[in-house]
Amino acid sequence: MDKKQRAARKAQEVREEVRQFVERLRRRVYGEHACPDWGTLFSEIEELGVQIGDSVCREFVQQAVSGQAGAGGQRCRDESCPACGGPLQRRDPEPKPLLTRRGEVSWQEPQAYCTKCRKAFFPAVQGVGDSGGRPL
Ligand SMILES: [Zn+2]
Repeated sequence: MDKKQRAARKAQEVREEVRQFVERLRRRVYGEHACPDWGTLFSEIEELGVQIGDSVCREFVQQAVSGQAGAGGQRCRDESCPACGGPLQRRDPEPKPLLTRRGEVSWQEPQAYCTKCRKAFFPAVQGVGDSGGRPL
């Protein structure tokens, strides 16, 4: 299976996962029959769909970015100061808000500090910044 076939297969698996998720969500929102009451406006159904879609997007981005930040925290422990090569001190992560196209997300940004250079480093910033999100 080549790269294109693997990507197509993964996309199909994600669509199926979304379909099953939405079925569960419809039961939660509309009750056992998973259908809106008779007379519910299309615009109301659409608005709820948009809100849920935005919420799923924010959650997806937040979890993915938090994963990156966790990997950055690991780099804080493993790496030395990029300026002087000295050991880095780990500092408590700081909450970092970010505005996405679907609203605000937040994650814990890992930090490292070099006592010799008196500088803090944020290993996750570059990867997150590349994603196009805007800091708040
Ligand atoms: Zn240093």
